[in-house]
Amino acid sequence: MAELRRNPADAEETGQEETRLWAELVATARRTVTDGLVVGTSGNVSARLGDLVLITPTGVPYDRLTPGDLTAVDLTGRQTRGTLAPTSELPMHLAVYRTTDARAVVHTHAVHATAVSTLVPALPPIHYMACALGGPVRVAPYATYGTDELAEHMLRALDGRSGCLLRNHGTITYGTTLDQAYDRTAQLEWMCRLWLTASSVPGLTPSLLSEAQLAEAGERLKGYGQRR
Ligand code: 13P
Ligand code: ZN
Repeated sequence: MAELRRNPADAEETGQEETRLWAELVATARRTVTDGLVVGTSGNVSARLGDLVLITPTGVPYDRLTPGDLTAVDLTGRQTRGTLAPTSELPMHLAVYRTTDARAVVHTHAVHATAVSTLVPALPPIHYMACALGGPVRVAPYATYGTDELAEHMLRALDGRSGCLLRNHGTITYGTTLDQAYDRTAQLEWMCRLWLTASSVPGLTPSLLSEAQLAEAGERLKGYGQRR
């Protein structure tokens, strides 16, 4: 069989794409810290490029990451770029890419979301923005960080959703872009904060949205924003 030769121009373009995506990924990871969704080296971010998954290395402060630290694995988890070890949460990130059309995944320890994960089996539908994540957000049962068991629990909680809470741990969301995945995390954290705030007023209980109300808002959200 004839050997498949790569056009050098294609290879250069792929390299540029990787460099561009890595810069975007590092910017997103830094944003999780500056926006207060993460403290220190908690959390992790990844983005898919073809069969490659660019991913934050484990235990490295995001402000120290340079273009030369580009880290990537294939969909089996084999490291194909870089020398820094990838995030300990590789099983969760890969599970999302194997089972969904995700192009980016964001995991954080956002404080209100993590607080909610210790209180209820699902975030009560207090706001229509739950539709931005596919409906009421579930809480995956607890398992040790970085394990296949945690990834399995997460996948079940993600069914029909683009995000979930991880009990006594944090959040995970995905999207078709890094911005979308990040925004879903920010919205989820905001909704958790909203529910905690409303439900902490003594003697009063927050009203919740019905399935019909959520469905209607969900339909409307499909047309939300600017049309070009
Ligand atoms: P890493 O530094 O390995 O990405 O771990 C952070 C984390 O959030 C583990 O759950
Ligand atoms: Zn974590």
